Amino acid sequence: MRYALVNDERREAEPGLQGTCPGCGQPMIAKCGDQRIHHWAHRGMRSCDPWWEPETPWHRSWKAQFPPDWQEVVQQDETGERHIADVRTKHRLVLEFQHSHIRLQERQAREAFYSDMVWIVDGTRRTRDLPRFEEGRRSLQVSPWQGVYTTPFPQECFPRDWLDSRAPVFFDFAGTEAIDPRAPAERRLLWGLLPGRAEGHAVVVVLARQNLVRAAHDRPQIVASRKIVTILGERFRAARARAMLEARRYPVKTAWKPRRRWRPRRRTARF
Ligand SMILES: [Zn+2]
Repeated sequence: MRYALVNDERREAEPGLQGTCPGCGQPMIAKCGDQRIHHWAHRGMRSCDPWWEPETPWHRSWKAQFPPDWQEVVQQDETGERHIADVRTKHRLVLEFQHSHIRLQERQAREAFYSDMVWIVDGTRRTRDLPRFEEGRRSLQVSPWQGVYTTPFPQECFPRDWLDSRAPVFFDFAGTEAIDPRAPAERRLLWGLLPGRAEGHAVVVVLARQNLVRAAHDRPQIVASRKIVTILGERFRAARARAMLEARRYPVKTAWKPRRRWRPRRRTARF
């Protein structure tokens, strides 16, 4: 973890410092080696939060975009279950940064525990995720809103294990690399798959990193997912109803027959 309590104060790990975990109150050791980023670890190496994953520079660079008191926030539900959210905004929206593989059950448990959350997924961990998206992005269809797309084939864009998430999932295909403003949009921007479907179509929003950070500061939600999916669903339904009406207005009277292939007319000799 980035922070532990030292004399009731949140402190970053420094050599020789001793602290306690803000989650469970157990002693923590400052790990300040060369191999990994400086962090705090529980004595027994296992975190008190089974959902905690070892932090990477990618986690840290994302968390650093937010005020220190929004980072690593202990959240407890009515049963006493406790977890440490990567970031929780002043609007109580939880941002979870996911680098490693997550089992389906754990993902669902986390979505239920932090009912109001978004995922930000490191799209650079698996080598096939970016090529899949580069290819699948061609199937995205524009919508009336700039930066909002739909696709009937989300599995062609995103990893299968995130498709039915109940929270918006933003894929970060750039990782910790500095982002060149001329880099292709796949890597320059974040691509968010919204929960739910609009008449069978997945809804994808695209936004710059700084816009996600700004939205987290300013608004209770990053994007109004439910509203966007509902309105697009209504549009798809209306378009289908219009198409059916048109079909009824101009009924096809005769059954369609295959046209005969054109053949040069045989010359018939007349005498
Ligand atoms: Zn702990």
